[in-house]
Amino acid sequence: MTAPVLSLKDACVRYGDLTAVEGVSIDLHGGETLGLVGESGCGKSSVARAISGLNPLSSGTMMVQQEDVAVKLRTDRRFLADRVQLLFQDPVASLSPRLTVGALLAEPLKIRKIFNADTWAAAIALLQDMGLGEQFLSRYPHQLSGGQARRVALARVLTAKPRIIVADEPTAGLDVSIQGDMLNLLRALRDRLGLSYLFISHNLNVVGRVTERVAIMYLGQIVETGKTGLLFRDPAHPYTKALLSSNLTIDPQRRRERVILKGELPSPRNPPSGCRFHQRCPLARDICAVRQPRLETQADGRMVACHFPLSGGSEAMAG
Ligand code: SF4
Repeated sequence: MTAPVLSLKDACVRYGDLTAVEGVSIDLHGGETLGLVGESGCGKSSVARAISGLNPLSSGTMMVQQEDVAVKLRTDRRFLADRVQLLFQDPVASLSPRLTVGALLAEPLKIRKIFNADTWAAAIALLQDMGLGEQFLSRYPHQLSGGQARRVALARVLTAKPRIIVADEPTAGLDVSIQGDMLNLLRALRDRLGLSYLFISHNLNVVGRVTERVAIMYLGQIVETGKTGLLFRDPAHPYTKALLSSNLTIDPQRRRERVILKGELPSPRNPPSGCRFHQRCPLARDICAVRQPRLETQADGRMVACHFPLSGGSEAMAG
């Protein structure tokens, strides 16, 4: 397999005494869509912001196209922005209300000092590809529907010619039919432009539809990662199973085996000892409260952080 376009190793993000992300490692390959999934507050948006350069990593390393981002940024402050772009969750809020669509599209080209007749024509062509004709150039964000605003935000992000797009809940708040259009558009653009996506979502139906691999986060850590089809069919981590079982539309049969989690999501300011999931896990044993399970590769290729994984082809890992 070729080297990943993005590689995060042992990444931590801290805000004062709060550790939002701890020890997260992610590889994203060229042309791939990797899902990052978990409940709100699990740290996935902090990962998105760190990868997009909005928050620095507190520790750990990030490589993009095999270059150490922290080192490159010392001499090239646009190194990350030229390669990684964040598609914000709320497109209308992310678009300046005082700028027309035309000005919004031109802005990234001007910032990069590459605004000319050719790049402008390419930006308009991109907008037209998305079904938005030139009449949209004079409109303001508040005059756009949710779906149109997302397309404008996407076109604007693409004018920077990134290799990687971090898409934070790109279909949140859209009608199901518009969601489908947006997902098809993202996939078509990925294939045509050779993009890679880190796809952040709590919507498992969407993640199941668009991602090849998925990483499940709980309380700042990745608890299971592997091929989406495998994890969705046969989750190995009790938390992955609980998350999937709460989503009845993925498989209505799961209604009968729904796992109800005990208690609330603990505070990341004061995470539980041992396995962070142990207070809510229906399978917890004594060891779980004292020993933190490491993310280990299983026989079927997935990685799971659990002393007693449900499947994945490994022997019991406790000891
Ligand atoms: Fe549950 Fe223990 Fe596995 Fe944690 S390590 S998920 S508490 S079985």
